[in-house]
Amino acid sequence: MAPTTEFDVAVLGGGTGGYTAAIRAAQLGQRTVVIEESRLGGVCLHIGCIPTKALLESSGLYHKLRERGAELGLRATEVGFDFERIASRRDAIVDRLWRGVQGLMRKHRIEVVQGRGCLLGDGRVQVAERVLQARAIIVATGSSPRSLPGVEPDGERIITSDHATLTRTLPASIAIIGAGAVGVEFATFYRQMGVRVTLLEALERLVPQEDADVSGALLRSFQQAGIDCRLSARVLGAHRSENGVTVELEDGRVEAEQLLVAIGRAPNTRGIGLEAAGVELDQRGFIRVDEWMRTSAPGVWAIGDAVGGFLLAHAAAHEGVTAAEDIVGRRVHPMEQELVTRCTFSSPEIASVGLTETQARERGHEVKVGRFPFLASGRALIHGETEGFVKLVADAESGQLLGAHVVGVQATELIAEPALARLFQGDAWEMGRNIHPHPTLSEALGEAALAVDGVALNV
Ligand code: NAD
Repeated sequence: MAPTTEFDVAVLGGGTGGYTAAIRAAQLGQRTVVIEESRLGGVCLHIGCIPTKALLESSGLYHKLRERGAELGLRATEVGFDFERIASRRDAIVDRLWRGVQGLMRKHRIEVVQGRGCLLGDGRVQVAERVLQARAIIVATGSSPRSLPGVEPDGERIITSDHATLTRTLPASIAIIGAGAVGVEFATFYRQMGVRVTLLEALERLVPQEDADVSGALLRSFQQAGIDCRLSARVLGAHRSENGVTVELEDGRVEAEQLLVAIGRAPNTRGIGLEAAGVELDQRGFIRVDEWMRTSAPGVWAIGDAVGGFLLAHAAAHEGVTAAEDIVGRRVHPMEQELVTRCTFSSPEIASVGLTETQARERGHEVKVGRFPFLASGRALIHGETEGFVKLVADAESGQLLGAHVVGVQATELIAEPALARLFQGDAWEMGRNIHPHPTLSEALGEAALAVDGVALNV
């Protein structure tokens, strides 16, 4: 076995959480190593956030030109697509960002060790023949699509988001199991490309983790777009048929050329030596951590999808910063789940931060709610996209902003403002006093904030 190499910080997994943790650790003067078995950038860069948004950019423009072009005074009689070019643009964007991440590792003098790492305890990590020794270890091993018994992905007819993201062909029809972020984003993409879509959700509403009003708005939009949404669906199994897949439901069956299983993700926490290192997992296999991302084992921190919470790249990155700072004794930013913005790039887009109205009431708050519909926004009218609204939830007594929910055009860009207001523990009226530029969609945030106290000006 090769001699041990010593580091201050060893990061297991080079996804968005892992490489960000490594950069912060290096900034803080730590001799840092990242161990990555596949490619730096992880799921987010290679088979998640980035490539899917590249696909959605093409499908959204294609759809808008076809469906709304005439309304905007455009004559585009032969709007079509070349899926090979859509796919190569997607791949080129990923490749460019990937090279960027590799450059960042060099810039910060972070060593990257290629291979699968396994914790041995006492700060040691084995990667093939090599043993690395570190004062602190950050586990950032991410997650993988969860499978559904009786519905085994084969990568061809029955697929997961891993396959759908990298596809170079389109089916004529697709059934999607699960209407969480993955399900509704792919439903949007396929529908915009002209594919027949059936969306099967076990619970009684789409995006069940979002505010109930948001789920209702998305359902209306999806139905208008021609997506067949089956709520409270009980999937019993699925099998390949002559022309595709048959999904057996409790009350019937759905036939489609492909089936996408999007029922959540499971943590990658098995077979990496967590037991040897004394790291405790919860019942679902996620690593238990405190708000400083410390695990139950001294010297071991964990971040990102592997610890649960919101499985989002930006949450992972923030957790990475928190862990790296804690390692050097800088306790500045504890991880607060309520400050994590949630973004879903469906059409219409969905974004939220903090508590839903129901959660706020369950926590004992008397709430005041302010709403503003995009129908009343000049900018939304100019975009030709007036569906959706802003909904703000505030404590009735103190006026403090508890949650913000946006469904509509560019919702994912808008959510940063209420997130900052929450970070500053702001009140709704303060957002109402913020002078929003005109004519922009952000005015809807100011109006919704004024609506909390019943003084919206433009509705
Ligand atoms: P999810 O947990 O968000 O949603 C899964 C959905 O599947 C839920 O609505 C659930 O009720 C439903 N479901 C579960 N079992 C089912 C069954 N047997 N039949 C029918 N429906 C069933 O998971 P996801 O959409 O797979 O996404 C995985 C993770 O990745 C999530 O944490 C998500 O937040 C994250 N993600 C985020 C983005 C984004 O931020 N834009 C995009 C993709 C994924």
